[in-house]
Amino acid sequence: MQKVNSFIIDHKKLVPGVYECQVNGVFTYDVRFVRPQDAVYKGLFMDPKVAHTLEHFMADYLRTKTNEEFSSTLLYVGPMGCLTGFYFLTSVSYSSEFWRKLVLECVEHILTQDTIPGAAELTCGNYKYFDLQGAKEFIGKVIIPNFTSDEFSSEYPYCQE
Ligand SMILES: [Zn+2]
Repeated sequence: MQKVNSFIIDHKKLVPGVYECQVNGVFTYDVRFVRPQDAVYKGLFMDPKVAHTLEHFMADYLRTKTNEEFSSTLLYVGPMGCLTGFYFLTSVSYSSEFWRKLVLECVEHILTQDTIPGAAELTCGNYKYFDLQGAKEFIGKVIIPNFTSDEFSSEYPYCQE
């Protein structure tokens, strides 16, 4: 049986960064905000309400606050189940530096906001389940330091078979 790609990545060695994977012509970006070891041993991961809040802001920012040349290639934005990062899917390839800058722009924008886009009964499946203050704290404590760090990477560490 073929192994799922993410199960051959050594998550004990994985550091914050943006990692590209291409499957069937779609580019999937593993936008890793936090080192999995820091999630497990230091509790540095997104609370589900924080992940939901960031999802609304990031989807809105990437779709409506970027140029059409980019936004027309964006297919999907969503949090990882392990709550250590997001997946971005696009129809064309972008560099990890491109994503690093865009994520930093997006989170700096979120820090100035006091209304969550799309947080309404009509447009969300769970419109009271948010934590804007927690999202801002996660941005300041985890995303900005990790995405401005020299440790930021775009090369997956693979498991030794
Ligand atoms: Zn929602």
